[in-house]
This record gives sequence, structure tokens and C-alpha cells, in this order.
Amino acid sequence: MYAKNPLIRVASAGPVLLILGVFCFEWYAFNCIFMLRGLGRWKGEAIEVAFFRAFFFNAFWLLAIWSFLRCAFSDPGFVPRWWLDQNQGCRTEPSYFGWMPGRPSSCGKCEVPRPERAHHCSICGKCVLRMDHHCPWVGNCVGAYNHKYFILMLFYGILAAMTYGSSAAPVLAAMFGKGGGHWTIGNLGVKGWGLFSMGAVLAASLCLAMSILFLSHLWLMAVNRTSIEVAYAGRNPYSKGVSENAAQLCGRFGIDWLLPIPSFRPMTDGCKYIDYNRVDPECGV
Ligand SMILES: [Zn+2]
Ligand SMILES: [Zn+2]
Repeated sequence: MYAKNPLIRVASAGPVLLILGVFCFEWYAFNCIFMLRGLGRWKGEAIEVAFFRAFFFNAFWLLAIWSFLRCAFSDPGFVPRWWLDQNQGCRTEPSYFGWMPGRPSSCGKCEVPRPERAHHCSICGKCVLRMDHHCPWVGNCVGAYNHKYFILMLFYGILAAMTYGSSAAPVLAAMFGKGGGHWTIGNLGVKGWGLFSMGAVLAASLCLAMSILFLSHLWLMAVNRTSIEVAYAGRNPYSKGVSENAAQLCGRFGIDWLLPIPSFRPMTDGCKYIDYNRVDPECGV
């Protein structure tokens, strides 16, 4: 979304629109087919269960798409102007594939200094603070400022998919004559049942893929590494225990951890992480 090259910007929109289409399809299949078509025929307990499922599905869906949009359209952590102004002409070290705590390096492509943990993204054409990876599905880099949104997107996406899957299970069971209670194919119609089942298969597949990604990013957050830094050798100088590591990414623990909004109490500006002795006292790092 922020690529310098306009062609890459246009190409980036494809996967993002695809994911938005999946979001919309899942919402339609759940609410317009499963809920609306089935609701008139469900009696007693089933209606309460349906409302319960609808509430959680829509809440998780809303939080997932909100996180997705924040991740896709917010600044992932491009090196801020103020940092460049403060560090004009400061001594930098050549780029090195390893830990460089408290030491700015120089980007051979941008030809400007960049803070510790920043890396150049060849798709965005810029350096990104605490860069994790460039995600084509959100059309954006995942870095210091939007990594939390990325993790929340996976978290709520999994919960929404699980709610869909647990709702679909009785309908699918009804098809095979194993007892679906109030949830029968007749309630949905054959076409409706087909679309709802397609949504269920999609939800299950996404749930599996997102779970793997979610667990891997939880682990990265716990050990305070990025997908790039995971290959670094030696002791991680940034790791201060699981809760401090998580706070470096999401800020001090609070309700804001659960919402795709900037941290209320951030621990880092993405440019500086811990109080290392400055290599160059003239630099603002
Ligand atoms: Zn660069
Ligand atoms: Zn990028």
C-alpha cells in the first residue's frame, strides 16, 4: 500500500481485495444464509443459541476486519523524519546480518542512516523499523507500528472462524443423517446449504492456516525476535523475559492489548529499544 512504485501499489491491491472478499463472503454466509433463513423456523432453545452464536461471530468478525484494515493501511514503521533529522551525519555501521543493539546502520539502498532493528523492504522501497516481513495479504510491511494489529487480526480471525465452524458442524451433521436437531438442510435450502458449507470449509482452512501463523508470531513476540532476527546467531540482547518482551511490542499491559489501536503506554518508539551506551554521542539514538 505504501510502495514507492505505483505498479507495485496497484498489484498489492489484488490480494488485499481478495481477503476483503473472503471477509464479506463469510459475513454473508453466516448472517444472511445461516441466521436469517434459519431463524424463522428455529424454536425455543435454538433461537437463543443462534443469537449467542451471531453475537460472538459478528463481534470477532468486526474486530478481525478492523485489525486487518489497520494492519494494511497504517504506517508499519517507516523511519521517521525526526529521527533522520537528529541523526544526519552520525556515524553508522555497515549493514550486518546479526544483532546491532543501540547502533544505527546505513542502508545501501536508501543511502541514509537507520535505527537498530530496521531493515530495508525491497517491495515498499523503504526501511522499516523492527521489520518482520512484507505480507502480500495485507499489502503492507509488518513492522514496529503494525505488528500488534497483525497478531490481533489472526487472533480474532481464528475466533470468528471457530464460531463459524462450530455453528456449521450441526448443519453438516444433518446432511449425513447424524442428527442436526433444529439445524436442517431444509431450513437453509440446497443453494443456501451449499454456500454455507463452502463458507465452513473456507473458515476451517483459514482457521488452520491462521493458527499456525498466530502461534509462530506469539512465539516471536515472547522471545522478542522478528521473522528476520530469528536467524541471528548469539544471545538476543533485547530479550527481557516474556512479559517485558510482549510489552515492547504491544506496550504496557492494558485493555488496549485487545484492540487494534496504538498502545496507551508504549515502551519504545520503534527507533530505540534499550539503554545501550551510544556508539556515537553526537547521534540522537
Ligand atoms: Zn532502506
Ligand atoms: Zn514492505
